[in-house]
Amino acid sequence: VAGLTKSYRTAGEEIAVLRGVNLTVAVGESVALTGESGSGKSTLLHLIAGLEAADGGEIKLADASVAELSDADRAEMRRDRLGLVFQQFNLIPSLTVEDNLGFQSRIAGRHDAAWHHELVERLGLGRFLKRYPEQLSGGQQQRVAIGRALAVKPLLLLADEPTGNLDEDTADEVLALARDLVTRSGCGFLMVTHSTRLAATLDRQVNLHAGVIA
Ligand code: ATP
Ligand code: MG
Repeated sequence: VAGLTKSYRTAGEEIAVLRGVNLTVAVGESVALTGESGSGKSTLLHLIAGLEAADGGEIKLADASVAELSDADRAEMRRDRLGLVFQQFNLIPSLTVEDNLGFQSRIAGRHDAAWHHELVERLGLGRFLKRYPEQLSGGQQQRVAIGRALAVKPLLLLADEPTGNLDEDTADEVLALARDLVTRSGCGFLMVTHSTRLAATLDRQVNLHAGVIA
């Protein structure tokens, strides 16, 4: 990410949220993104994921400049090369754990049975495959969401407060699993967190303040 800018205009007032953000996440590196509420952490993740358009600056995933891609290629990149995990789990309620896990990878045409099986084993989801999300605890649901995101073997895993709805012990456990799987899949990991304790367990911490990475 280089020189990234983003403003929102609401009720005639323009607020510059990102004022030139520079950030690189290397392959295999895990980075914690902290910053006070409203500093623009979620906005930055949404821009990287292509869910919203930036006003200026550049986002590159591997060697591809996201802005230069066609809409179709950008959608394909998001589906095939990015994993997304949110605070609210966002599983598909009408699908079983098994089908939620394989949802993105099957659509992306990147389903790998051996990797899928390894995710199920390492995330301890074998007993839950026929269940529906509402029949799982929060920690179990987030393990499914992490498995779904990593099933495509993404270049980058983006997570927005993935442990925000979990108690401290469950948060530690889920993050440790996520880190292990990120290492195994060899992707980069960018995680928003309010927890300085959790942030300290990643390779590097960056703080978003006044629209830039401090
Ligand atoms: P939190 O830690 O509370 O989740 P955050 O760092 O993720 O905060 P963002 O959600 O990125 O913050 O919001 C950054 C700023 O942009 C906030 O002031 C917010 O009100 C504003 N904002 C976000 N989305 C929009 C939108 N769609 N329209 C207008 N303003 C927005
Ligand atoms: Mg946020």
